[in-house]
Amino acid sequence: MNTTVLFLLVTPLFFAFGWIAGRIDMKTVIKQAKSLPQRIFDSIDSLIDNKSGIASQNIQDLVDQEPQLTELQVSLGKLYRSRGENDLAIKLHTKLLNSQYIFSGETKDLVRLELAKDFQRAGLIDRAENLLLRLVNSELYSHKAEELLLDIYQQDKNWTDAIETAKRLATSDYSYHTEVAQFNCELAQESMIKSDNTLAKDYIKHALEINRKCVRANILLGDIYFSEEKYQDAINTWQLVEKQNYLYLPMVAYKMFDAYLRLDKVKECLTLIKGYAALYTNLNLSEFLYQKLVQYENPKTALEYLRLSMQHYPSSKVAALIIDLHLNNIPPELLNGAKPDSEIIKNLLLKYNDKLSNHRCGRCNFKAKTFFWQCPACYEWESINPNNSES
Ligand SMILES: [Zn+2]
Repeated sequence: MNTTVLFLLVTPLFFAFGWIAGRIDMKTVIKQAKSLPQRIFDSIDSLIDNKSGIASQNIQDLVDQEPQLTELQVSLGKLYRSRGENDLAIKLHTKLLNSQYIFSGETKDLVRLELAKDFQRAGLIDRAENLLLRLVNSELYSHKAEELLLDIYQQDKNWTDAIETAKRLATSDYSYHTEVAQFNCELAQESMIKSDNTLAKDYIKHALEINRKCVRANILLGDIYFSEEKYQDAINTWQLVEKQNYLYLPMVAYKMFDAYLRLDKVKECLTLIKGYAALYTNLNLSEFLYQKLVQYENPKTALEYLRLSMQHYPSSKVAALIIDLHLNNIPPELLNGAKPDSEIIKNLLLKYNDKLSNHRCGRCNFKAKTFFWQCPACYEWESINPNNSES
């Protein structure tokens, strides 16, 4: 009898406690569901409106109240970094590393990775490197850490570590052979500056072993032979550029000419370069050939070449050179006072050509008057067109 009464009294109480607990829990959930998304949506709206300052302030307010939202704090750190507020990003990610709300090693590794990016962006390369080296054995972030280390080693011109890192990163999908060859070329160039041609040749050999299409390696090897007064070897090496990538031929035209000149074989050189110009009509060789043909052959040959060039690959540069040739070779009395007008047109054409002729990055469209082996904007190797013709 007593047991039955007790049962009848206690059972509803359990239900009541359960109901109250459920109500309290639901209230919290509803409160969070109402407050949390709205602030995030406000932040997203601010980001869409390019008001990242308001967005970061909204998220900061939110994470101040809800410090358990660790993933959101990681995102906030990224936002700070994207705004150039590296000190705030570093402060946030450092604090997050010691947060009581981070329990898993994986999340800590994620925060370390972000902190390394903050340090890198702030120019604190050593600190970034130390953090990334700790992540090399991370299950989830090892590859990303190695990629960042590769960026850092390139930024630091630490080509030896860059080579080792790139080799570790290489997969069947991406071999890094272009990069590793370029890193070897950088080392070769450093050795050449120190007049250590033997070591430079070793690096060049490595570059060509890993990437037989590495034009830069042959350009450098030709430079070494030239400095050693082995002019025929230099010419033979520079000629290999045609098979590797003919677009780089304008970069070796003047070099080859100097070597042929030393061997007293200018005519042979001009025949060779004229052959390149005829075969690869888009190469920017017009000025080189114009100057050399006028100087070493005659204005008639130069004019023939320019006219042919104008037919196959018309450009304002060639048009200006034709005018220049006439201005320099027609007696002034026969120009009937047309010289000033011709000069104006020529200069206008040259100005137009100068405006249009750029070395352009095929990846990010960066344009420069100077050629770079690595794009200064997107850091891609061999993405900049060596041929700065108008098109
Ligand atoms: Zn680029």
